[in-house]
Amino acid sequence: LARLRARLLKSNNVFGKSLLALLSQDRIDDDVWDEIEETLLMADLGTDATMELVDRLKARVTVAGTRDPQELRGLLREELVAMLDPSLDRRIAATRKNDLPAVTMVVGVNGVGKTTTVGKLARVLVAEDRTVVLGAADTFRAAAAEQLATWGARVGVETVKSDVEGADPASVAFEAVKTGIEQEVDCVLVDTAGRLQNKANLMDELGKIKRVIEKQAAVDEVLLVLDATTGQNGLTQAKVFAEVVDVTGIVLTKLDGTAKGGIVVAIQRTLGVPVKLIGLGEGADDLAPFTAEGFVDALLA
Ligand code: GDP
Repeated sequence: LARLRARLLKSNNVFGKSLLALLSQDRIDDDVWDEIEETLLMADLGTDATMELVDRLKARVTVAGTRDPQELRGLLREELVAMLDPSLDRRIAATRKNDLPAVTMVVGVNGVGKTTTVGKLARVLVAEDRTVVLGAADTFRAAAAEQLATWGARVGVETVKSDVEGADPASVAFEAVKTGIEQEVDCVLVDTAGRLQNKANLMDELGKIKRVIEKQAAVDEVLLVLDATTGQNGLTQAKVFAEVVDVTGIVLTKLDGTAKGGIVVAIQRTLGVPVKLIGLGEGADDLAPFTAEGFVDALLA
């Protein structure tokens, strides 16, 4: 996460900067608490999480009789890490089970970085010596299948797609899993379309893809991709997805483009699903596993 740290610093990390000013105070007074609250809100932590965190910090400061603002930093770190629950299992299912590939569906609104994430994740898995097949079930966006196939070629894995624009996404997903089973690969990653014009449609489409895949193999992972730069708005969209499909993990993309990393805390708390991966750029290597400690340290740098 050293790169995240560097990027957050470069992007004028709101956490780190305000904290620096904070630590130059000589006592913990109301101004300091106001400053902390403002910093957390500005970093997109959300109102609920901010209030809870400040209350907990105040209680700890009272109990411990802390006077030095510098010690607050350590307490803040501990509380933020606790909020991100470091005990959560954040591994991506990528091992064959019952002689079948692990299947991952990647869902989210158009433009958040789904296709890119599938490409980057394939690269990570291939680097771990796993065999992978990609499924281009985003048949809505004309260029999506080509974009995914380009990633596949780059990473050296097969991409199953339909040549017909607007083809049935579920049938592409079915073919991809079928190919994965025939080739005895470790994982099949299925890219999907994220038309959010209406919840019923989305539920129909994602539900159908899942059911059709499950005729052949279990869906082990449903990764919801969210764009960190959309802040609290992204959260509203995320809730819709979480309502229509059982999300097992979150991928937060474009963290390189925001100084507001606090959204990670807000998202995980709101959805009750672990953030598993973070996107730090458009390049093939810009996908990192998420760890609570590493992330908080980058935030507070
Ligand atoms: P999709 O519609 O959800 O499949 O989104 P795409 O994968 O096509 O990505 C949309 C745009 O976001 C593309 O230009 C990607 O290169 C870009 N993108 C994806 N992930 C990241 C990231 O982590 N950081 C940055 N800066 N750009 C990203």
